Amino acid sequence: MSERSSIFPPETFRSRLDRVADLVESRGLDGALITPGPDLEYLLDSRIATHERFAGLVVTPGRRVMVVPAVDAADMRSSVAGAIGVDVVGWSDGEDPYALVPAGDVAVSASTTADHLTLLMDRGLRPVNATTVLRDVFMRKEEAEIGELRRAAHAIDEVHRRVPAILRAGVTENEVAAELEALILAEHRSVDFIIVGSGPHGADPHHDHSDRVIRDGDVVVVDIGGTLDTGYHSDCTRTYVVGEPDDRQREMYAVLQAAQQRGLDVARPGVTAQEVDRAVRQVIDEAGYGEYVIHRTGHGIGLSGHEEPFIIEGNDLVLEESMAFSVEPGLYVPGSWGARIEDIICLLYTSPSPRDR
Ligand code: ZN
Ligand code: ZN
Repeated sequence: MSERSSIFPPETFRSRLDRVADLVESRGLDGALITPGPDLEYLLDSRIATHERFAGLVVTPGRRVMVVPAVDAADMRSSVAGAIGVDVVGWSDGEDPYALVPAGDVAVSASTTADHLTLLMDRGLRPVNATTVLRDVFMRKEEAEIGELRRAAHAIDEVHRRVPAILRAGVTENEVAAELEALILAEHRSVDFIIVGSGPHGADPHHDHSDRVIRDGDVVVVDIGGTLDTGYHSDCTRTYVVGEPDDRQREMYAVLQAAQQRGLDVARPGVTAQEVDRAVRQVIDEAGYGEYVIHRTGHGIGLSGHEEPFIIEGNDLVLEESMAFSVEPGLYVPGSWGARIEDIICLLYTSPSPRDR
């Protein structure tokens, strides 16, 4: 089933599963249901795809069982699940795949689709968002995970290093994206996304790329990410100029740099996620450009490209050591141009801020 060998020993997965079981108990839940997706990859090193057929890891206070279509059971038993003593139960067409999922309050992973969830709810399952439970496990990255995120950062930096040679007046965003795709694939297992936002397209943070021809004087937002062979994601934005920026662009970019630096300074264990968002916005507001801010400051990253902690107003989650997330403020001038700077950071140790020393 899994064509790669894990970078982690089986004990890593056993201890992650132990922590999920502890959380189920400490929160008074009847169980947790983790269906195929990043959470299952994190807990069992499994990227199983069963399409519309039900598959899921069921954790209850007394048992850990992986329910899969019968055709997938042998592969699952010879994977991490088998190695750490998870019961693998296969079901055949005509059998009840849900028999081992408990009723009551069950933490359900976000990858669970409505077809299965509605049937489970008919049987008395009351879903609790598993992300709010599991985030306590996956937000704090283990040492090997931090190593993978560091590897991802180097990989995407390597791609950005080549961008200045690709970006020139006369080429289209699509042509730039095609070159970036090859460069990302040279460093990653797959491409997650490619944003080449030139001129007015830079003002749309969700623009991908188009047949627009890049002109002299264009500011170009390049946001790219990929997935490593180990499943960990990269994500990095740089803003380039073809030719020379005007004075206002220079000034606004300097504010953006100062805002991002403020975010990097404030982001420390003990500070809440929303405090980082506020600190970044404050720098931009005080410079008079607050109206050009249209999205949150950042997001966590790991086996999924976007996960907790979300660096956003309203998130009072206290940041802890070993959490990894982006700090990516942007300024967007509608119809004209945009700029964003994005780096992934990991809170590696507790230290006083430079101002306290
Ligand atoms: Zn990004
Ligand atoms: Zn991002």
